[in-house]
Amino acid sequence: MSRLVRGMIEGPNSRLLSQLPSSICLYIHVPFCSHFCPYCAFSKATWREDLELAYVTALCEELSGFERLGLGVKTVFFGGGTPSMLSPASILAIMGQVRRCFDDSELTEITFEANPESVSRPFLDAVSEAGVHRLSLGVQSFVPEELSVLGRVHSVDTVLEALALLGQYPALAINIDLMFGIQGASIKAIQYSLDQLASYDPGHVSVYGLSIEPNTVFAQRSEPVASEQVSFEIYERVIQVLTGAGYRHYEVSAFAKPGQECRHNLAYWHFDSFLGVGPSADSFLLGARFSQCSSLKTYLKDPTSPFFLTPLTPLSDTHYRTEYLLANLRVLEGFSLDQYQHRFGHSLQDDYPHVSDRLVLEGLIEYDSRRLRFTKKGIYLHNEVLMAFIEA
Ligand code: SF4
Repeated sequence: MSRLVRGMIEGPNSRLLSQLPSSICLYIHVPFCSHFCPYCAFSKATWREDLELAYVTALCEELSGFERLGLGVKTVFFGGGTPSMLSPASILAIMGQVRRCFDDSELTEITFEANPESVSRPFLDAVSEAGVHRLSLGVQSFVPEELSVLGRVHSVDTVLEALALLGQYPALAINIDLMFGIQGASIKAIQYSLDQLASYDPGHVSVYGLSIEPNTVFAQRSEPVASEQVSFEIYERVIQVLTGAGYRHYEVSAFAKPGQECRHNLAYWHFDSFLGVGPSADSFLLGARFSQCSSLKTYLKDPTSPFFLTPLTPLSDTHYRTEYLLANLRVLEGFSLDQYQHRFGHSLQDDYPHVSDRLVLEGLIEYDSRRLRFTKKGIYLHNEVLMAFIEA
C-alpha cells in the first residue's frame, strides 16, 4: 500500500500515517498462566479454554486493524504470560493472521516464550509449522531449592525433559532464562545451573537479577533477597563462565553465541519502533508510547488498538533523550556520540555535562572511538548509572 493511501485512512492519527516506518517489530502479549509466581508483576490471567478462544478471536481482530496500513514486520515476539499454553490451532491462527495483516517478506525472527511444563511434542510441531525461529525457555534455575523459593510450578526434571525434547527440533534456536539474587543464592548454586545449562549448549542465555516489584506476593511478604555483595559475585561468575564458553555478553542481561543475538530485543535497546498487541502490550511508534488496556475482560469486549482510538502524544525532548540513553546504554558496545548529536541537535556532554563527567571519573562509563559505553565496573553497577541519567 502506498504512503499516499495510508494518509487517507481516517482516525485520530491519520495525518501521521505517512511518517510510519515501512516495517516494525511486533510484540504479542499472551496473558495466560497456569499458576502465578509470587515475584511476577506481568499482566496475566488464569487459563481457560473458552478464554483462549475469545482471546485469539480478539487478537486477530486487533491485528486486522493494521492490515490497511501496509506495514512490514521484521520480528515477532510472543511474550507473556505463558505463550506455550496456547493450543497448536491458536498458534497457527495467530501467525496466519500476522502474515495476512503485515508484509512478512523481511520477517527474519519469530520468538516464542515457553515454560518447561508446557513444552510438548504437539506444541513444538505447531511452532515449527508456524515458522518460529527461537524458543525462549523460562528455566530460572537448575537447583530445586531455588525453584521452590521462586514458587515456580516446574521441577528440574520437567526442565530436563523439555530440553531433551527440544533437542529433537534442531531448527529451533534456544534461549535459556536464568534468575539470580534469590534468597539463599550462592556461587555454588549458580555454578551448578551454568554447568547444567552448558550440556545443552543453548545459543542464547539471559540472566536476570530478581527484583521485588510492587504489588507482588514477594513485596507483600517482604521476601528477602540475596545481599548486594552475593548478587555482585554471582553476576561476576555468570559473566566469567559464559564469556569463557564462547558467549558474547552483548547486553546487560544477555549472552549470545555468534549470530544468535535476539534481534527483537536489540530493536528495543536501539530505540526502534515497535508495536505491541494483546492486553497490556506497550508500543512505541512515531516517537510516542501507548499501551493496550491491561484487563483481559475489557480487551475481549473491544480489542481495537489505541493507535486507532487516541491521538498520539510524542515524548517530550527531555523524556525522549533520557529513554534513548537508557535503552542504548544497555547494549554493551555502547552507542555513537555522533548519532546522538545528529538525532538531538546537541552533544551528550552538552545535555548531561555533570553526570557524564562524574560517571567517567568514577570509572562507570567510558568514551571509546566516539562511542559511549559501560566500563566493566559500570556493567555491574548499571542500575546506578541509569539512575544518574534519569535524575539529571
Ligand atoms: S513469571 Fe511467567 S509463568 Fe510466572 S506468573 Fe509471571 S508470566 Fe506467569
